[in-house]
Amino acid sequence: RFCYVNGRYLPHANGMVHIEDRGYQLADGIYEVVPIYHGKLVDMEQHLDRLAYSLGELRIAPPMERNALRLVMRELIARNGVTNGLIYLQVTRGVAPREHKFPKKTKSSLVMTTKKTKPVAPELLEKGAAIITQRDLRWLRRDIKSIGLLPNVLAKQAASEQGAFEAWLVDDAGYITEGSSTNAWIVKAGPDGKARELITRPLGHDILGGITRRGVVDLAKEQGLNLVQRPFSLEEALSAAEAFQTSSSAFVLPVTSIDGKAIGDGKPGPMTMRLREIYCRYAEQGE
Ligand code: PMP
Repeated sequence: RFCYVNGRYLPHANGMVHIEDRGYQLADGIYEVVPIYHGKLVDMEQHLDRLAYSLGELRIAPPMERNALRLVMRELIARNGVTNGLIYLQVTRGVAPREHKFPKKTKSSLVMTTKKTKPVAPELLEKGAAIITQRDLRWLRRDIKSIGLLPNVLAKQAASEQGAFEAWLVDDAGYITEGSSTNAWIVKAGPDGKARELITRPLGHDILGGITRRGVVDLAKEQGLNLVQRPFSLEEALSAAEAFQTSSSAFVLPVTSIDGKAIGDGKPGPMTMRLREIYCRYAEQGE
C-alpha cells in the first residue's frame, strides 16, 4: 500500500512529514475526501472545486495544478487497487519555524492516502443509525474544510462512548447545524400525514457544504420533492417523520433515533431509502 507525500509515492509505513509542518504545528491546512465507488471517483470535480475554495479562503497556495492533482489521485488509486473506498488529500501551508503569522517563503505540503472500505453494513441500513446531539463548539468558518477538527473529534468520541454512530451538533439557538462529519436532514409529514417536506440547513459559513448534500439536493429537485433549505431545531428533528445524514463515506444513511428517542416509527423512512437508492445509482456514474 502506497501513499503520496510531496512528489513521491512511498510505502504507507514511510509516509512522513516534517515536525515543523504547519499542519502538524498549527492545523494550518485543509483536506478533502473523495469517495471511490465501483472503481469510479464520485463528483471529483466538485471535490476539487471545494479544495480550491478552502485553499483560497485561507490563502494557501495550490500545491500543483488541477490536472496534475487528478493524475496523482488516479495513480495512487491504481497503485493501491482501490475499487471501493476513499482517497484523502491534505494540503498545508508547508514547513517553517513555528510562528502564527504566514511564513514568507514556504511551499505547500501535499499528502494523499487511500482507504478501502466495505459497503455500509446491511443491519445498519435495516435498523438505521442511532445518533446523539452535542453542543456545536466549532469556529465560525465551518464552510472551510479545515484539518482543525478537535470539536468534531470530541463529538464523535462522545457518540461512540454512548454506543451511537454520529453526533449532530446543536448551535446556541437550539438549531442543528450538521453532524460531526455529515450533513443533517429531516423529513416532516404534512397536515394530511402524507405530503412530505425534506429539510436541510442552507449553505453558509455555519456548515460544510457537503458534496453529497449537494448531490441529494439536485436529485430531490429532479424528483420534484418538496425540498426546503432552512435551519431546523432539535425539537423539530425529534418530532420528524424521518431523519438521515449524508456524507462521502456512507452516502445517504437513515437515522432512526436521536438521544435515545425514536424518530417516526423508529425505522428507516421511505423518502430516506428512496433518496439512498437514487443517490447510489447516481454515484455509479462517477469518472
Ligand atoms: N459536514 C462535515 C463537518 C464533514 O466533515 C463532512 C464530511 N467531510 C460533511 C459534512 C459531509 O460532506 P461530504 O458529503 O462532502 O462528504
